[in-house]
Amino acid sequence: MNPLRQTCIERAVSATQDCLVVGAGINGAVAAAALSGKGAKVTVIDKGDFASCTSQESSNLAWGGIKYLENYEFKLVWDLCKSRNHLMKAYPSQVREIRFFTSIAKGFRKPRMVLYFGALLYWFMGRCKTRPPRLLSRKTIEAEAPMVNTAPLAGGIEYSDCYFAENDARFTFGFIRRVLRKKNNAVNYMELIDAEFANGLWRAKLKDHISGGEITVNARSLINAAGPYADKLNARLRIESPFKHIFSKGAHIIVPRVTKTQNVLTFFASDGRLFFMIPMGSCTCIGTTDTRVDNETAEPTEDDVAFLLENTNTLLSLEKPLTVENVIAKRCGVRPLVVRKEADVGNAEWTVLSRKHEIDIHPEKNMFTIYGGKLTDCLNVGEEAAEIIQSFGVPLFQTLEKWYGEASANKKARFESEAKKLKLPAEQTAALWTRYGKEAMRCLGKIKADPAAAKPLMADYCRAEIECMAETEMILRLDDFLRRRTRLALTIHPARLHCDPAFKEVSAILFGSAPKKTPPKNTCTQTELRI
Ligand SMILES: Cc1cc2nc3c(=O)[nH]c(=O)nc-3n(C[C@H](O)[C@H](O)[C@H](O)COP(=O)(O)OP(=O)(O)OC[C@H]3O[C@@H](n4cnc5c(N)ncnc54)[C@H](O)[C@@H]3O)c2cc1C
Repeated sequence: MNPLRQTCIERAVSATQDCLVVGAGINGAVAAAALSGKGAKVTVIDKGDFASCTSQESSNLAWGGIKYLENYEFKLVWDLCKSRNHLMKAYPSQVREIRFFTSIAKGFRKPRMVLYFGALLYWFMGRCKTRPPRLLSRKTIEAEAPMVNTAPLAGGIEYSDCYFAENDARFTFGFIRRVLRKKNNAVNYMELIDAEFANGLWRAKLKDHISGGEITVNARSLINAAGPYADKLNARLRIESPFKHIFSKGAHIIVPRVTKTQNVLTFFASDGRLFFMIPMGSCTCIGTTDTRVDNETAEPTEDDVAFLLENTNTLLSLEKPLTVENVIAKRCGVRPLVVRKEADVGNAEWTVLSRKHEIDIHPEKNMFTIYGGKLTDCLNVGEEAAEIIQSFGVPLFQTLEKWYGEASANKKARFESEAKKLKLPAEQTAALWTRYGKEAMRCLGKIKADPAAAKPLMADYCRAEIECMAETEMILRLDDFLRRRTRLALTIHPARLHCDPAFKEVSAILFGSAPKKTPPKNTCTQTELRI
């Protein structure tokens, strides 16, 4: 039994909540954090782990949506750029500017100069908060990105956007941590199975997927932040909405690092869409596809992987072409795209459907649903959620402390000075701050008590931080740790990961015992995958 989770469950059932947030992807997490920061009593639940659905499958970019300029969605780009800038300012360690190196093939549908002027317009729309774009000749590309196959190119452009330095799921967890810090409740593996609204109160029946039992939580208001499952949840709650979701599948593959640059390499793939190669630690994340699907869940097919590999091999000049053997991990999710219920999108150009979010409010039931949206837009969603909940009569207050953002520069300086006293390498100090913010002080406490706890235990994760995660991050399953609180499952091949000598020790720290499922012995004999 996880003590933190148990405390949250006890608190949630013992007092009427101001708001029950269903779904702890980015939208549910920000809504719960904003309400918590403004003094509401909140419980946020997820039927899986926090951020275990769409919010762990993104391209990890906080971007203003340069590609939407092609569809003349100026308002969307203007607003997304503003949101991106806001994130960049509030999260200087976690949301960082990165250069995008875009190659343009000869005979491409738009001339290179038009794309350059588009990038300039994008920079202006981003209020010039990033480095300005550059026009690239073939020669410059050859010199600065020698792995790019320049033979078919007319040249390129370089521009800036941002990325989530750790990953999307870890960024989302930061909001869950804020909820917990305010002594509010966040419970993973807890599913809403039914709820009734009567006499101004929601009575929600929740299924605990860990104990197998059921609990009831009472709340004055309810937010449906179930992402791709929002329509199914509304059907269960007997809510009629003018909106619905349609789904677009996006797959990524992760391979050992194919580029030496710290830039994102951007190409127009064989289907004409933008295609990214994004640095991810010692690896490169390649994607994405964009295919219409009918279900909320999606698996990457062999065709998806073949498409990604084929384009990579065409666009780069690698010594040895990439094959499926080189794929360390796959990411695949569905983008929940919002359309009006009556809209006939059967023949619509799929990829031009907007990625805006919509909020469908039902004041007669004190509830609303968040449709669509992007990680980039999350702070706006949080503010909107708080305004709506207040309009239902739930009293909120304004505080001087913001409900989002990293700790102040003063706190960071204090942390760095403590880390220096403990002789931590600068790289480790920076990683601890990026991952845990001011909670990183807790790691330093452990290192002070036992300096050996600073040594890397698994990849670059030291024992002190794994102990802190075990105590404060509600890790119930191995995947919660490997895939969401860290990105180890994305950057280390499973055969190597499960044979890491530290694997048992890490499991013992997290769960008090080694994992029940051990990989078959022969997986450990696989040779390290290299390109
Ligand atoms: C391939 C791909 C690439 C993307 N790239 C980017 C990008 O680079 N930048 C960007 O800004 N955006 C990107 N997006 C969009 C972004 O990832 C999503 O818009 C965002 O993650 C959606 O968050 P959400 O909270 O609405 O949904 P989710 O993250 O899916 O969260 C919904 C949660 O609700 C839970 N749930 C459902 N039903 C119940 C229930 N009955 N009880 C309890 N819990 C329930 C689910 O388990 C799930 O965890 C991308 C999306 C995809 C698919």
